[in-house]
Parts: sequence; structure tokens; C-alpha cells
Amino acid sequence: MTHHRIEKDAMRVNTDWGDEHEENHSLSNRERFLSRNRHCYDHIIRCTGFAFDNSLFGRLKDKVPLHHGRNGNKFPEISLNFESVRHPNMFFLGANAHSLDYKISSGGFLHGFRYMVRNLFNHLRERYHKTSWPHAKLTLGEDFREKLTYRMDTTSGLYQMFSILCDVAVIQSRDGEGIVEYYYDIVEMNAESFVQQRCSKCEFLTLSFQYAPDFHGDKVWGDRNYHNNDPARAHTSQFIHPVIRYWNPKAQTVYSSSLREGKSVPRPTAEFYMLENLYFDWKSFELHIRPLTLFLDRIRPAPLTKPDSEHDVSWLCRSNTKT
Ligand SMILES: Cc1cc2nc3c(=O)[nH]c(=O)nc-3n(C[C@H](O)[C@H](O)[C@H](O)COP(=O)(O)OP(=O)(O)OC[C@H]3O[C@@H](n4cnc5c(N)ncnc54)[C@H](O)[C@@H]3O)c2cc1C
Repeated sequence: MTHHRIEKDAMRVNTDWGDEHEENHSLSNRERFLSRNRHCYDHIIRCTGFAFDNSLFGRLKDKVPLHHGRNGNKFPEISLNFESVRHPNMFFLGANAHSLDYKISSGGFLHGFRYMVRNLFNHLRERYHKTSWPHAKLTLGEDFREKLTYRMDTTSGLYQMFSILCDVAVIQSRDGEGIVEYYYDIVEMNAESFVQQRCSKCEFLTLSFQYAPDFHGDKVWGDRNYHNNDPARAHTSQFIHPVIRYWNPKAQTVYSSSLREGKSVPRPTAEFYMLENLYFDWKSFELHIRPLTLFLDRIRPAPLTKPDSEHDVSWLCRSNTKT
């Protein structure tokens, strides 16, 4: 409001103009003027959600199938590679691809879906231009552990797209020091098929981040006593924390005790939860480095063929690791 306009309005406050309501305004001009710092607004935008607009594809014979949202028409149905389930070579990205992590992660927002866009970019480059997915070559030794800790400290994609994106480390060979191909930012539900396309019987590890599934509402703002400082109970961590999963396709398939959407889900051959840290600092020797090293020491000499019992951390009791 300009100075001139304010003066003019002040003079009119006690006239009929003061009693009038401008279109779409709930307050009278007088009320608006006298409390202009708190109530002055010009337009109201009602943000009541959106539905997908299929008219964009007017000439397509079959409509793009939709799902999610209150009326089941919010997002296009897509594969884990962002491709329409009905229209090959039609891909969706941005908020439109949020069905992959709907009510789970940050893919409905720019800060999250930028990493999903990069994932699609890598997929398209691989599929149409035979350019390999970004990766590093490592041994199964110290450089592998260093890579994992470096990624835990610096990754943005795994952090923002928690529970959805993961790094995948494929153990290509165990000869000598071993060969590990370390791939960045893969959709975790797609990890097994991603590995199978490269090395069908290879063991692999994933690194991802997650919150406790029930970490919302009062738990976030209320009593902090449920956080713990015991690496043996790291799987009960609440705040965002790294999780490493080891899969051996030659080991017996076992299932998690908790269901996902009413279905049993296979559980990894072995699993490591890094103890939560509210400052995102994983450098405590006793709480973080030693447990991680002990876990990797189990995998280094030979494949694990017998799946761990769920949340078994008896291996943490071994004492050996050097500082
Ligand atoms: C108030 C508000 C605050 C937000 N704050 C944040 C934040 O702080 N951080 C964050 O990460 N995210 C935030 N978001 C979310 C973020 O803005 C959206 O997730 C993001 O803009 C979605 O990007 P998009 O490219 O997928 O879609 P859009 O930005 O919606 O782009 C879609 C484009 O397609 C065009 N279009 C639609 N239909 C047609 C058609 N038939 N033909 C041609 N063009 C068409 C539209 O005009 C539009 O330009 C916020 C959103 C809102 C509303």
C-alpha cells in the first residue's frame, strides 16, 4: 500500500466506505485498514489438492491409468523406471512420479524428486545410449568401508529420498582383494532386478536411510526419551539413520515378521542398522565405526549362506577391531 493510498484510506475510514466489504473480503474496509498489518490480503487461493489431467494426451486412444489420492486419480501408474504401465516409452517425472513414494518419502517435492529425475536420466542414458550407470570400482577391503562412511556423511539423494533410494554395491568377484561395483542412487525396490541385469547370482549390499516407521506426530515433537544409545538396539532407532542390507541370492529366502501392504516381504541375509545420531554424525568409534567394521568383517572372508535371525546382533560381541 503506498503512503498516498494509506492517507486517503485513513480519511475514509469513518465514512460509508469504511462499512463496505470489497469483493471476496471477509472484513470491512475499516477493519482491514485498522488491522492492515495482520489481515490485509487481496486474494484467497484454496489449495484443495489436484487430480491428473488426462486431457493433455487428447489424441491417445487409451487414457493413462491413474491411482492414489482420495479419488484414485492423482498420479499416473508407472513402473519403477518411471514408465507408464500402459504406454511403453512414456515416462513421468517431477511431482507426477510421486506414486513411487506416495506417503513414504519426499518425491512430491522438489527437494526430493530432483534425485528421482536424476535416476530417470541415468536409466534413459543406459537404456537408449548404452551409457553405464554412474559407479565406482572398489575392493572388498578398507576402501569399501571408506566409501560407505563417505556416502553416509555426504549423500543428499539417499538422505532426501529416505526409504526409497539406495546405493547398491555388487560383489563381482571375491578373488584376491575382491571386486565391488558401487552404484549410486537406485530405487531400492528395484535393486534386485538392477543387480540381476548385471550379475544374476552376485551377492550385493544396499545402503539407504530410514526413519522408524512410526516416527511421526507426537514422537517428533514430544518426549525424546525413546532415542537410544545402544548399538545392540540400533534397529529401534527413530530419527533418520543409515541401514546396510546384505543379500546373497544363493542363501535361503526368509521373510520379515512385519507385513507390507498385507504381504510378507523377503528379508536380507544380514542387516546392519547404524545407531541414530541427531547431529547426523557417525564418527563415534564405539557407537558407529566399530559396529560397522564388525558387520563388514563378517562379509569380507566368504559369502554368508545362513540368514541371520531378525535383528540378531550377537556378532557385535566379538572383540577384535583395531582403532
Ligand atoms: C505453496 C507451495 C510451497 C511449496 N514449497 C516447496 C518447498 O519449499 N520445497 C519443495 O521442494 N517443494 C515445495 N513445493 C512443491 C513444489 O513446488 C512442487 O513439488 C513442484 O513445483 C512440482 O514441480 P513439477 O515440475 O512436477 O510440476 P509443476 O511445477 O506443477 O509444473 C507443471 C507445469 O505443467 C504445466 N501444465 C499443466 N497442464 C498442462 C497442459 N495440459 N499443457 C501444458 N502445460 C501444462 C503447468 O502450467 C506447470 O507449469 C511447494 C508447493 C506449493 C504449492
